[in-house]
Amino acid sequence: MTSRRAFLRTLGCGLAGFAVGGPTLFAQASGARTYKVARGDTLGVIAARHGVTVTALKIANGLKSDRILIGQVLTIPGAGPSGVLKDVVDATTSLRIQRGRWRYVVLHHSGIEAGNARSYGAAHKRRGMENGLAYDFVIGNGKDSGDGEIEIGPRWLKQIDGGHVRNAFYNTHGIGICLVGNFENRRPGARQMESLTALVDWLRDDAPLGARPKFTVHRWVDKNHTLCPGRYFPYAEMKKRYG
Ligand SMILES: [Zn+2]
Repeated sequence: MTSRRAFLRTLGCGLAGFAVGGPTLFAQASGARTYKVARGDTLGVIAARHGVTVTALKIANGLKSDRILIGQVLTIPGAGPSGVLKDVVDATTSLRIQRGRWRYVVLHHSGIEAGNARSYGAAHKRRGMENGLAYDFVIGNGKDSGDGEIEIGPRWLKQIDGGHVRNAFYNTHGIGICLVGNFENRRPGARQMESLTALVDWLRDDAPLGARPKFTVHRWVDKNHTLCPGRYFPYAEMKKRYG
């Protein structure tokens, strides 16, 4: 395992230079939006407008032909605030989770605007973390993964300790969530926050954890060590929501 000193040196939450690209190794939580068909719309036009393929549209809506009707409500597959948890819920349902283990949700920012679960995982591995991606979940900013897309990391799927904080207790009992971005420079995006609150609400209220994890952030866990998740993260709002 990575030592605490190695953690300081290697992970932080302000790593630059992550490699990006290539096929993702992680389960993707693709949310769904809806769209009401208007006069003149074709599947091709709707698909192009939402950045999805006609095939994906047809599969998502169980369409056997290209025929659509004015006023028909179509499900648009892809990242989005509604239904964004579907893959997380599906993946978690099949896991064996130790009851009462997860007592905290620990929020992070990545400290950089580029990257996704795959590239952060590769960087963490290169820097000595044998289990790769230090977080359980990564929520995209629309650059290298969808805006508000929730990527599920291998540590969650294997239910092993995180590597996202110095404090070992919180790595064992804390679910690490990382928002892509540098919130020393800007606020998190609206979609990212919607996905974050949807995920945390679900983890606290509905997930089969046998406990109600408390919400916290990296800088409150590793005091005087990090600014993560940055000065523009809406701490007061989250404190109000989660106590
Ligand atoms: Zn952090």
